[in-house]
Formats: sequence, C-alpha cells, structure tokens
Amino acid sequence: MGAAVQLQSAVERFVSAPVRKMLIDGKWVEAASGKTFETINPATGQVLARVAEGDKEDIDRAARAARRTFDDGRWARFNPGERQRLLLKIADLIDANGDELAQLETLDNGKPFMESRHVDIPAAAETFRYYAGWVTKIYGETNPSDAAFFNFTLREPVGVCGQIIPWNFPLLMCAWKLAPALACGNTCVLKPAEQTPLTALRLGELLLEAGVPAGVVNIVPGFGPTAGGALVRHPMVDKIAFTGSTEVGKEIHRETASTLKRVSLELGGKSPNIVFSDADMDAAVQGALLGVFFCAGQVCCAGTRLFVEQKTHDEFADKLAKTAAGMKQGPGLDPETRIGPLVSQEQLERVTGYLEVGKKEGAKALIGGERNTAKGLEKGYYVKPTVFTGVRNDMKIAREEIFGPVVSVIPFKDENDAVLQGNDTAYGLAAGVWTRDVSKAHRVARAIRAGTVWVNCYNVFDPSSPFGGYKESGYGRELGRYAVDLYTQVKSVWLQI
Ligand code: NAP
Ligand code: MG
Repeated sequence: MGAAVQLQSAVERFVSAPVRKMLIDGKWVEAASGKTFETINPATGQVLARVAEGDKEDIDRAARAARRTFDDGRWARFNPGERQRLLLKIADLIDANGDELAQLETLDNGKPFMESRHVDIPAAAETFRYYAGWVTKIYGETNPSDAAFFNFTLREPVGVCGQIIPWNFPLLMCAWKLAPALACGNTCVLKPAEQTPLTALRLGELLLEAGVPAGVVNIVPGFGPTAGGALVRHPMVDKIAFTGSTEVGKEIHRETASTLKRVSLELGGKSPNIVFSDADMDAAVQGALLGVFFCAGQVCCAGTRLFVEQKTHDEFADKLAKTAAGMKQGPGLDPETRIGPLVSQEQLERVTGYLEVGKKEGAKALIGGERNTAKGLEKGYYVKPTVFTGVRNDMKIAREEIFGPVVSVIPFKDENDAVLQGNDTAYGLAAGVWTRDVSKAHRVARAIRAGTVWVNCYNVFDPSSPFGGYKESGYGRELGRYAVDLYTQVKSVWLQI
C-alpha cells in the first residue's frame, strides 16, 4: 500500500469534536432531542465522527428560520451585485480549503482522494462560480399586450427550498442544490445523507465565513424517514429538490401531491453505454471504465449496461477486464487508489447480493464478482471491480440499479438493436455512444431516451450543461439555465395606462 495522504490538522479537528452540530438560523446547535449518530469511515468500518441527529423538531426550527429570513426581506435586500460577490466568495473559500474538504470527503465517503481533490471539490467551487454569474442576469420580460396596459413579468424566487441529497457526491450535491437556489434569492434547508454529513457541515462554516446571513442556509443532518420526511411534509417549505433513489423519489412525489409543493427529482439510472465496432477501441475501454468504476460505480449515471457490437464483443470484454484488473483498489487516502470501498455496510450487502443474483442468472464474472478481503482491506466495504459477460438485458442485474463497481457487457447486432436494447429500461438518465461515424453518432444520440448522451466520452460535466432524467430517472433539469427555472417562478404584472 502506498503512503497515505497526510491528514490535515483541520481535518483532525473537524472529526474529533464530541458532536458535530447542525446549522440553524446562523447558529451551530445540538438536536432538540440531544440525539447523535455516528458516521463511519468506509475504508476501515470505524467510527469517523459523531453528528447531531436532526428530527422533526429540528427541521421545524430550520424551516421557520428559512421562512422568516425569506419573508422579512433580509436576504432579498442583498442586491444582485452583493449576492454575486457572496457566491464568488463561497467558491473561493471552497478552493482555499480544497485539501481539507477533499480529505474529509474521502474519509466520509471512501472515494479516492484523486477524485475528491480533482473532481468533486473543484466542481463544487465552479458550480458556485457559475451561478454567481447568473445572479445579475435573471430577467423578466415586457409582453406585447393591448396598448391600454403595460404588462411585464418578474422572475421571483420560489421561497423556502428543502433540499435532500445522497451520499455519492456529498459536497458537489450541496453545490448543485445551494448555488442556484441562492443565486435566485431563495432560502434553504438542506439535509445531507446520513452516511456522509461532514463536508456539508464544513461547507456551512464556510458559508458563514463568506457572510451568508443567518437563516438563509440551514443544514440539518439526520435520517431520511425522520428528518427527510419532516422536511418534505413541512408546510412552510415551498419546494423540494431531491437526488437519490427512484423509490424515495416516488414517495416524495406522492407525499407532495397533497400540498403541490414544487418538486424536482434526480433519481437512479441504468445507463446504456454503446460501443460500435468502428469506435476507437482503446478510448472506448477507457471511457467504459470511467463510466462504471468512477466513485466505485456509485454514480446515478454510471454506464452499467455496456452494449458491445457482436463482432467485437469478446475482444472488447477481455480488454476491459484486463485493464480493470490493473486498477488499484484500496483506501481512498492512498494516492494510488483508483477504486475505493463502497460507502457503507448496507451498500456492501446490497452490491454483493446483486453479484450472487447475477451469477445465479448465468452471468460470468471475467474479473471480480465478490467482496475484496485482501490484506488490509478486510474491515472496509470493498467489492472487487466486476466485469460480467453472458448478460441479457432482461436479467435482474441489467434492470436494477446496483450502485457498485459492476458492469454487464451485453452484445448487440446492429444500430437498431443497440437503440432498442438501450432504451429497454425503466430509467433514462444518461447514455454513451462510441463510434467514428458522425452520422451514426447523431442518429443514436437522438434515438436514445435519456437526459444526457455522451459521444466518444463519458461522465463529462459542466455547470452550464443541464442534467436530469427521462422516464423514472426523475424530472426537472439541474445546472445551466434550467436550474434558474427550477428555483424561480414567474409573476405577470398588469398596469392600466
Ligand atoms: P436514498 O434513500 O434515496 O437516499 C437519498 C437521500 O434521501 C438521503 O439523504 C436519505 O436520507 C433521504 N431519504 C431517504 N428516505 C427518505 C424519505 N422517506 N423522505 C425523505 N428523504 C429520504 O438512497 P440510499 O438508501 O442511500 O441508497 C439506495 C439506492 O439508491 C442506491 O443503491 C442507489 O441505487 C440509489 N441512489 C441513487 C443516487 C443518485 O445519485 N441518483 C444516490 C444515492 C443512492 P438518509 O441517507 O439519511 O437516510
Ligand atoms: Mg460516512
């Protein structure tokens, strides 16, 4: 094992507090119940930190603070230029504390430091920077109404936004949620995932340091059914933005039907990554690996159904397996690690359960197919990178989201077959296409029913580019100008002249 990244003293300080408190109305407070929960380091299975456990009462305090701060105009009085500078300052503070945040993220989630330091943390900063640009560019319109009237629109914030995020990209998801919401003038109650609350809480400190007024952002760690459920039901909350499983997304959809809260849902996926025989094979192998082993496969848009044109199928699968076998698995803090542990014991059981199901269904593991209990890894939640062949698109492992380092290689006959099989899924979050034929690339990109299609690349993101799902992958688009639509509403004002 390589030398671990040296932990910063700030990180030691952060995790060793007797209890990491929640942020409500600008103050760090304990849960009303006094309860706490443990967050675990998935590389070791050991307790990493103890965190205040928010519940209904805490959510109520947070929602009231956010409501008051929205309604009393405290936040609205920040003119756009000031709000823009504030968001830029948040971005700068994330960058300035990048090593610390990346270490915390790796400790809490398990992901390789390579990823947290070079992807998650800078992307979080860039998201704040991008939305800082929007603050001064959100316009209403004047409308061509009858000359007896002057009619114009105002683009106003939605109000209090309840934001519930998952554990796979803890800080980045905070940024995707908070940056556009704040740019548009909303106030927020954010609930991080129970598995990974730490970087959200550290971000809370940075928000206060940047000068975000009390009550504008409230951060309440806790569990889904209790804290999350209370947020979804709270009458003072105008909008829910959720990223997570399709199952919980549907529950939120049902729950909010009675109040018609605004809802945006970014849910699961079972994305097809389609490799044609005319593709640059080395690039496609690299892209397929990135598509499925990034963050140990715990990515909603992971390219888990790898469709390979029949005549290249065997050669491609072998190459993929050989290259994957060379990816180093280990603790995220080892700078050479490319695949870390899964986030939790629960995910470990879930993913290994799917591995067994796959084998029973007749899939063959070219590599992996089991937990990794190599020396030094026994206590962590490691699953070996797994390449399955002999998979049919109707098998359970090809239909359900596994959320682990597991890829199913599935052959296809021709373009039409690739599109039919690719679209034969309940999900529609993302897809990949690998070919040198430009026309084919365009045809397939149009034919695939998914919110994002990558051609000759995979997992490419930019704050300006919309992200979200077709079908059961959810609704609403985050990022780009689309998030401005999610976090504003339009008012039409009429004046008689
Ligand atoms: P999850 O339950 O959907 O968790 C996502 C967030 O929702 C967490 O903050 C969770 O809180 C919260 N939550 C859970 N139940 C809730 C409820 N009834 N009301 C309001 N909020 C609620 O996902 P998970 O259980 O962690 O993971 C299970 C599977 O979901 C994964 O294996 C994967 O397939 C999928 N998933 C998808 C994404 C994605 O990016 N689309 C992310 C994560 C997981 P707690 O964590 O505190 O309970
Ligand atoms: Mg943890």
